[in-house]
Amino acid sequence: MTESVDVSEEILSKTTCPYCGVGCGVIVSRGKQGEYKVRGNPDHPANMGRICSKGAALSETLDDEGRMLHPQINGIQSTWSDVFALMSKRFKSIINKHGRDSVAMYVSGQLLTEDYYVANKFMKGFIGNANIDTNSRLCMSSVVAAQKRAFGSDSVPCSYEDIDRTNLIVLVGSNTAWCHPVIYQRIRQAQITNPNLDVVVIDPRKTSTCDISCMHLAISPGTDSLLFNGLLIYLNDKGEINKPFVDNCVEGADAALEAAYESSAEMLSVAKKCGLELDELERFYALFARKEKVLTLYSQGINQSSSGTDKVNSIINCHLLSGRIGRPGMGPFSLTGQPNAMGGREVGGLANQLAAHMDLENEEHRSLVQQHWQSPYIASHAGYKAVDLFEAILDDKVKALWVIGTNPAVSMPNNSRVKEALSHCEFLIVQDCMQNTDTTDLAHVLLPAQTWGERNGMVTNSERCISRQRAFRESPGTAMADWKIISKFAQKMGHYKEFDYTSPRDIFNEYAALSGKENNGSRDFDISACANLDEKAYESFVPSQWPITFKNPVGTTRLFQDGKFFTPSGKAQMIAITPRAAVNPTTDEYPLLLNTGRIRDQWHTMTRTGKSPTLTTHFSEAFVHLHPDDAKKYSIVDDDLVCVASLWGEITVRAIITEDVPIGMLFSPIHWNEQYASNALVDSLVSPACDPISGQPEFKHTPVSIRQVQKAWYGFLLSRRQLDLSAQDYWNLNKGNGLWRYEIAGNETPKVWSDNARNLLCANEDNVSWMEYFDQSAQTYRAARLVGDNLESCIFISPNPHLPSRDWLMALFKKATLADKDKMFLLSGRSNDASEDAGVNICACFGVGKNTIVRMINEMNINSVEEIGKSLKAGTNCGSCIPELTALLNNVNNKTTLEKW
Ligand code: SF4
Repeated sequence: MTESVDVSEEILSKTTCPYCGVGCGVIVSRGKQGEYKVRGNPDHPANMGRICSKGAALSETLDDEGRMLHPQINGIQSTWSDVFALMSKRFKSIINKHGRDSVAMYVSGQLLTEDYYVANKFMKGFIGNANIDTNSRLCMSSVVAAQKRAFGSDSVPCSYEDIDRTNLIVLVGSNTAWCHPVIYQRIRQAQITNPNLDVVVIDPRKTSTCDISCMHLAISPGTDSLLFNGLLIYLNDKGEINKPFVDNCVEGADAALEAAYESSAEMLSVAKKCGLELDELERFYALFARKEKVLTLYSQGINQSSSGTDKVNSIINCHLLSGRIGRPGMGPFSLTGQPNAMGGREVGGLANQLAAHMDLENEEHRSLVQQHWQSPYIASHAGYKAVDLFEAILDDKVKALWVIGTNPAVSMPNNSRVKEALSHCEFLIVQDCMQNTDTTDLAHVLLPAQTWGERNGMVTNSERCISRQRAFRESPGTAMADWKIISKFAQKMGHYKEFDYTSPRDIFNEYAALSGKENNGSRDFDISACANLDEKAYESFVPSQWPITFKNPVGTTRLFQDGKFFTPSGKAQMIAITPRAAVNPTTDEYPLLLNTGRIRDQWHTMTRTGKSPTLTTHFSEAFVHLHPDDAKKYSIVDDDLVCVASLWGEITVRAIITEDVPIGMLFSPIHWNEQYASNALVDSLVSPACDPISGQPEFKHTPVSIRQVQKAWYGFLLSRRQLDLSAQDYWNLNKGNGLWRYEIAGNETPKVWSDNARNLLCANEDNVSWMEYFDQSAQTYRAARLVGDNLESCIFISPNPHLPSRDWLMALFKKATLADKDKMFLLSGRSNDASEDAGVNICACFGVGKNTIVRMINEMNINSVEEIGKSLKAGTNCGSCIPELTALLNNVNNKTTLEKW
């Protein structure tokens, strides 16, 4: 965990966090006991020392448990030379028999730029097709498409620095507090230093981000374009047009306004359709019009839609008409999901792109890239986008697939069909750092890759800032860098000279040179000043925002300052937007709307964050949020197991009832998969409908039903040993501090619970004793298994899902020996001393639980988050829990007031 800086620490590396697109710089050091420590790097411009709970817990993920150590063929350990020989034979025979288009790659925004570049070069120049797509298709391809329409290039105009220089931040479809926590922290800080800064949150859900807003517009799902078309009209009607800018730098304003008038002419009707009060809509529009410095930050709530491209353009239109772009403190600013989603876009990692922001459809670009690569081929048309790619496998058009650094069996929409495709694939190669994922389980060939801490290369964050990721530990087994695996295989396929790289620096220099080739300012992406980095310069590369040219070698903070864009006319394009409803409306059978997203402390499919005991305490079980009215309607109470079903699949998860979701909406996180739960793959429910322009799936809108699932018994089990409980009807596991936690439930009650408990928990050890309690009439069973005086495991069973809190019991596992009073209360599941039950973890950094915080607020009459921090340290490190501390404070103090009354 992050702690205050200890000067005696040995600094191992200054690198970047491998999780979200904020791209924080971190310092990795070694503590006195040889343990890794990770803290924010004060010198990195993306975070200036800040860090979030995921970044702070990185040190807990640095072990080799579960790592893929060696290449494998059909589950049997092999050697690199044997797997390359097999891959080469199979690729050649498949291409000979079915043509070049029959092989494909599916890669990841987790890859470093050099890995991405080599993969893209291999497919587009040497296999000769564009069948390489990336999981970034799932999170920001609508932004790429929209920015290309508006600016002629996939250019993010803004910088994080604009947060410090703006007067209004509009957060749209972005739970920034949880998904980009360091940006959230920066906004909070900006509010302190700039009293004129207002924040508006536009989101159907009441998220933790609303904590910093002066206005939360809880719009009806999917009505973003209507809202921004309405804003466009408001700006026009109120004369908030930047006429000189529009006259000289923008085209398409008339058509965009005409379309906006068609959909959003009447403000009252816009308010009604968006589910807002007229007054709040007017206040938002007036605020936007009044404050010249406006920054619109948007994320997956906008992008993950079948009209995501249009939604992004509806936002950009407002900034173009009002000239709020290219100047400090203003602009439309996309927050990217993954650490190198931007780097992937830059190297052309999507199936409809060429390298260095060049276009597949452009003959000059194709010839320029082919010449640079000295390649036998150059892809001439777009390849399969992610959803289409897996359909092409099922249609027998793609026979060989190479998956790198991603887990499509979990993360793709309608993923039972994706799993069917992976199983159907004639030759499936999966390259990953982890041995067991839902996707590796289906592969013919497994290739062990390096992971964070072992890899060297570059990444680009949301603000175009290129930074180094630096290695600081050895790879286990025979794992190799992704770029090296791809290069060695390309050489095996006969392209020796073209992939004769000796380091990531060789690759980066080649790539940087390509970006500058015949560019002269004609293309946005130009890092030609980095084309000849020597080892020292590459190693000490300072974070810099592209373009990085000889004219401007330190990089570029803000784009479009000169009002020139990369369209043929040099002018930005406003796009006529006709709002569209989601592809699949709710029906009588599926009357609710499922929204999906991230939680604060987990990342993607939990392959790394699932290793951290600290990060599993915030939410330890797959869940669905539903509104109290819906809970009542469907006879569901808190903690029930529920089945959520759609046309495409169904899951069984825990119900959490909350007013944070609107009536008619469910929210479920994307992280759980078959390694962590019996049936919680939320993307198995999600419709495969995509945006027709970007190909981005509609993750935020799937019609579903919900019903309570009745089991014969419910229980939980805590154990120092990892157990195999996959035979249970329902199970959910996570790693705690020195223990494994299992939530379980079954359809049939065992004849003798004590026998069953021994089957589940027993291991042949001396000195074992059992404590047991069984209430026949209540059908309640509780048992603890002790080795000496040490709690080794315990099991609690009930005929209903309402069981004691696990927190105090989990704390007992930290004790080397149990005291008599611990033993006395063990099977009640509750300490006789309330202060010993910290409750569910709120502050991940300092392990401060909800009960502790509530007690402190009550006892000390605490009124501010700062006072909580002073008393308990909660919220004083990464700050990710501050919204929850604020909510607790409000709840407790309101309750206290009521009690006083
Ligand atoms: S905000 Fe958190 S997850 Fe994202 S890069 Fe920074 S430390 Fe990593």
